[in-house]
Amino acid sequence: MRTTTVRVPAKINLCLGVGPRRDDGYHPLATVYQAVDLCDEVRATEVKDGAVTVSVQFAGDERREQAPVPTGPDNLAVKAACALRDAFGIEAGAGLAIRKAIPVMGGMAGGSADAAAALVACDALWGTKATRGELEEIAATLGSDVPFLLHGGTALGAGRGEEVSPVLARGRFHWVFAIADRGLSTAEVYARYDEMHAESPPPAPHVPQALLTALAAGDAAALGNALSNDLQKASLDLRPELSRVLEVAGEADALGALVSGSGPTVMVLAEDPSHSEELAGLLLRSGACADAVQASGPEPGAHLI
Ligand code: ATP
Repeated sequence: MRTTTVRVPAKINLCLGVGPRRDDGYHPLATVYQAVDLCDEVRATEVKDGAVTVSVQFAGDERREQAPVPTGPDNLAVKAACALRDAFGIEAGAGLAIRKAIPVMGGMAGGSADAAAALVACDALWGTKATRGELEEIAATLGSDVPFLLHGGTALGAGRGEEVSPVLARGRFHWVFAIADRGLSTAEVYARYDEMHAESPPPAPHVPQALLTALAAGDAAALGNALSNDLQKASLDLRPELSRVLEVAGEADALGALVSGSGPTVMVLAEDPSHSEELAGLLLRSGACADAVQASGPEPGAHLI
């Protein structure tokens, strides 16, 4: 049986500017994404019939309980494979096997990552020969973060996040991800954000110049000072215990700490790999999070291995 395997990174938002809710329910975003080497793998195997099926296995740590991931048509990897198949009139099926390391409902776009990986894996398995542009177009129909997870690296995201363009970034950044014992619903966080702005709508979002300057210079300390997330207040309101993680990171001289996307994962910026190891140990011992995982970025987007 032929198989293809794709590795795909998690994403973080170095800044996340969120504008007022649009009539279609989406929020305009101005963000800088970075892909980090906390990776899922998606394997696609040839099957005899036309069915697209999926199995999910969790990699690594039993310390944290994972939220359930759908193993039927609602799995984003299955949706991605079916969207590719429809777009190219393919009749073959595929057996998808996901090995998950990206926390589920962690604000790191794990589901979107699996969708991007399934597009690349099935394109190779079926010999679709989709162009990068065609894959990106399908990706945007699957979710706002999916085009970036094809792209990888460090990139600007506009529109609802699906309009991706590269940004100049030098060097490598070392992160610790403080992972919570249970996930947080992105929809719930956006709903709380809207409630918080019911009286005065937020302004049009923008990317802070200080962040772009820090990235262009590869200056980790300046990057730490420039991190920002408009959703952080709403996430902290729903999960007040996350403030403790931010406090511990501050006490431990992290270069910066911020809720990742809609949370509840908190990303903590270290000076170098040994500082990152030290921060991970401190965060774990503090009991403020269920797990502390070291990773660095930028990483390439979904790619065959
Ligand atoms: P984002 O940062 O994009 O808002 P998230 O990282 O917080 O997302 P995900 O792990 O992507 O959250 O999960 C969001 C929802 O998608 C969950 O309800 C989950 O059950 C569902 N889902 C569907 N397919 C997958 C998949 N392959 N992996 C993880 N979650 C999936």
